[in-house]
Amino acid sequence: MAPQNKIIIITAPSGAGKTSIVHYLLQKYPRQLAFSVSATTRKARPAEANGRDYYFISEEDFRQKIQQSEFVEWEMVYEGKYYGTLLQELERIWKQEKTPVLDIDVKGALRIQERFPDSSVSLFIEPPSVAELQKRLESRGTETPETLAARVNKASYELSFKHHFDHTIINKELNEACAEADRLITNYLAH
Ligand code: 5GP
Repeated sequence: MAPQNKIIIITAPSGAGKTSIVHYLLQKYPRQLAFSVSATTRKARPAEANGRDYYFISEEDFRQKIQQSEFVEWEMVYEGKYYGTLLQELERIWKQEKTPVLDIDVKGALRIQERFPDSSVSLFIEPPSVAELQKRLESRGTETPETLAARVNKASYELSFKHHFDHTIINKELNEACAEADRLITNYLAH
């Protein structure tokens, strides 16, 4: 299969460590992989940059893009906040002859799998436990008590979908999880 047709989906309950694994893969394979920058209506966090972490757009803009079918998938991931993958973003990366890496929530990942069943691979990153996941989210310091509770509830629900994905990686020890993801992705890119 030509590299421009492939898609790598990395999904997990929030706080399972998927972003660290995504960064690891992107750093290790800069010529083969590129981060798929999603559009979102949530506000940028202090360290985030528009066009690098997300395309931060207004709700009006987002709705317009939904109507014009510009998204391959979109979700209201958290109450009132939209996130979505733009077809144009995937095409931008395919044009560079790279494979897009999507860091998206479980529902979005299921949609992408449905839409690209033969050309995508999906990795579900599982936290060692829900208690551990709550600890990680707390130590990240980006959550209010309300958003923390919402994320933990959502995570428990999302864990029930793990069997829908091609591979599951339990993130007990980050180095080992990265090595496992590396092995799976290397194998996927080679075929
Ligand atoms: P955060 O607000 O912490 O950046 O991301 C919240 C959640 O939204 C994460 O689980 C992230 O993977 C997910 N997410 C980011 N971009 C997209 C997207 O384009 N589509 C979907 N469905 N989820 C996304």
